[in-house]
This record gives sequence, C-alpha cells and structure tokens, in this order.
Amino acid sequence: MTKRIALVAHDHKKTELLAWIEKHLSVMQQCDIVATGTTGQRIIEQTGLDVLRLKSGPLGGDQQIGAKIAEGELDALFFFWDPLNPAPHDPDVKALLRLCSVWNVPVACTSATADLMVTSPLFLSQDFEPLKPDY
Ligand code: PGA
Repeated sequence: MTKRIALVAHDHKKTELLAWIEKHLSVMQQCDIVATGTTGQRIIEQTGLDVLRLKSGPLGGDQQIGAKIAEGELDALFFFWDPLNPAPHDPDVKALLRLCSVWNVPVACTSATADLMVTSPLFLSQDFEPLKPDY
C-alpha cells in the first residue's frame, strides 16, 4: 500500500520543508500526501507534487490531520513546527503531536529526523507495520 503522509510547516519553517522535499522528491513521489493549506499550496507550486490540501493550520488544518491519525488514515507526519515563535493555534499543535504518540505514528519535527526517517529501508517497505496500541 502507498504510504500516506502529512506535511506541515509553520511560516518560518516553510522554506526549510520545501528544500527538504526537493531533496527527497523521489520518495515523496511515491507517497500519498496531505498538507495544511498554505504548506500544501507552496509544495504544489514549487514541486508539482499531488497534494490534498486541508484547511490552514490556524483554521483547523492541524486538527484535520489529527483526525486522520485517529482514524488510522496516515502512516507518518512531517511537522516542521517553529520553536522560536508563538503560534495562535499552539493547543492544536500540541494535540496533533499527542495523537501521534497515542497511535504510535512516526513523526519528524526537524529536518534531521525527517532525513533519517525517509532514508530508512523501512519507510517505504510493505513489511513495516508499527504496533497499533490496543486501548
Ligand atoms: P499552513 O498551516 O500550512 O496553512 O501555514 C501550518 C500550521 O500553521 O500549522
């Protein structure tokens, strides 16, 4: 099954995420991608990747991604959040990261972690099924 991933970057991190995507374009081309509104728009414009755009983060996009995680509809999250600037939707950011832990969904918050994640032989492998907690 095609890996289903979500891509989100706060405003000061968007350039970094776009550069990261360019670097891993061949992997990204093999994934089904959803993104928050503005991040998704920038990805489409810069890379031509097919991206399902949700609402902008502050308008509920992070929560939409959280809902997909709770429904088991995402295999990984790449979330370049900004540690140096306050966000109006900080509770949503926290909630999204929390749900990744609740459902054991791999999440990368920095380009270094994201590099390691997508270059893992397990990333695109059909054999890798993270343990789903049984609540
Ligand atoms: P954006 O949202 O992609 O619409 O900018 C990202 C966020 O702030 O969580």
